Amino acid sequence: MSDIFLFDVDGTLTVAKQKMVLSFQKDFLKRMNDKEVYIVSGGTFERILNQVGSDVINKTSGVFACMGNIFLQRVEVINDSGFSEWQVIYENKFEYPKNLVRRLESIVAKSDFPIKTGRHYEERVGMINYSVVGRNATQQQRKLYEEWDAENNERKAIVEKLRARYDTLDFVIGGAVSMDIFNKGNDKSQIIDKYFNDALEHNRIHFVGDRIPAPGNDHTLAERLRAHPNGTAYEVETWEDTAKLLKSSPFV
Ligand SMILES: [Mg+2]
Repeated sequence: MSDIFLFDVDGTLTVAKQKMVLSFQKDFLKRMNDKEVYIVSGGTFERILNQVGSDVINKTSGVFACMGNIFLQRVEVINDSGFSEWQVIYENKFEYPKNLVRRLESIVAKSDFPIKTGRHYEERVGMINYSVVGRNATQQQRKLYEEWDAENNERKAIVEKLRARYDTLDFVIGGAVSMDIFNKGNDKSQIIDKYFNDALEHNRIHFVGDRIPAPGNDHTLAERLRAHPNGTAYEVETWEDTAKLLKSSPFV
């Protein structure tokens, strides 16, 4: 029986949306040696690559992007440009109700948070990423929203409201300011059924994430693993916690 390691990105390997801190990146790379490591993030593949860097990503055994709605693995070939080639192993389509976007826009308009910067929803493979502050927000504006949301619990209230209205969709909080919307079941836990089902019977699978309590975007995967004798989930709050965790068993 061997060990398989899964890592979330935002809040687990990096500050949300930011690049991995260089000293940690170096340390993480070293610890990846001879280990089977996968990334499981709500972000797009391009964004994950930008955050963790090509050295880390090339050392993984695969990347589950967009909440596991798209899975990529490296083809063992380097092309002429020197970039590793990645192959899509599977990807999901997300067809959502027509009135969803209108409703999301109306929630933005009605929100008491005063800063709205535009680009409030982004379609990704198999999901929509949505925020009241908008994707054009500066780092400081994002921070303001994060603090305001911690006090006012707006994201939690929006999630509850939307969940009650759309019974085929699911809504979870991820990252510092946004939430993810997708077809029920197409959350991070889907990677078990789509890829790790057999592996879980014959290996120990360890998952590290920062959004494990419901309705966080690591919740369903953590629950799924914890329900199995070979699965474990570790909750962290920051990449510094992860750095510390990696110095203990079974990560060393
Ligand atoms: Mg996270």
